[in-house]
Amino acid sequence: MNGIKQILISKEELGKKVKELGNKISNDYEGKDLILVGVLKGGFVFLADLIRELKIPVEIDFISVSSYGSSSKSSGVVRIIKDIDISITNKHVMIVEDIADTGLTLKYLKEMLQTRGPADIKIIAALDKPSRRKVEIDLDYKGFTIPDEFVIGYGLDYAGKYRNLPDLCILDEEVYK
Ligand code: 5GP
Repeated sequence: MNGIKQILISKEELGKKVKELGNKISNDYEGKDLILVGVLKGGFVFLADLIRELKIPVEIDFISVSSYGSSSKSSGVVRIIKDIDISITNKHVMIVEDIADTGLTLKYLKEMLQTRGPADIKIIAALDKPSRRKVEIDLDYKGFTIPDEFVIGYGLDYAGKYRNLPDLCILDEEVYK
C-alpha cells in the first residue's frame, strides 16, 4: 500500500505479544470480573484481539476523546466525545489504548474514571513511545516500546486511513510533507 515506509512490528509478532498479555491478565485477575474500556478509535483492533485471549469474565465498553487543539493538548485538556454507558463503581477497570505518546490522554482518562469510584483502574497500551512523554503515567501492561516514529496500522490511522493494516508500519514522510 502507498504511504508505508517499512513494517515495524509484524502481525505475527503483535499476535504473539497479545497472547502473552492475555495470559498474564487472566492470571492477575483470576476470580475477578473486569471491565475493559477501549479508547476509540485507535484502540479497537487491540481490544478485539486482547479479549479473545482472556480466560476471565469481561465486559467491554468504549470511550472516545478528542483534544481541544494544540495549546490545550499540552495542558492535557481533552473532550469526551462518547462516554462509557456502564457503571464502573466498585468494578475492576482497565483502559485499553493503542499507544501512549505524550501520556496526556491516558492521564486525563484515568483521573476522570477514578472519580467514579471503581475498585481499581489499570492501563494497558499496545505501544509505548516513551521519548515523547510529557506527563508521568504508569502503564500497568504494555506490548512494545517503539522509537519516535509516526506509526500506522493495527488500528492506528493517518488522516483517518490505514487502520486496517494488519502490521504496525512506519508512515512514509512523503505522505505528510
Ligand atoms: P497522547 O495523549 O499520549 O499524546 O496521545 C495518544 C494518542 O495520540 C493515541 O491514542 C493516538 O491516537 C495518537 N498517536 C500518538 N502517536 C501516534 C502515532 O505514532 N501514530 C498514530 N497514528 N497516532 C498516534
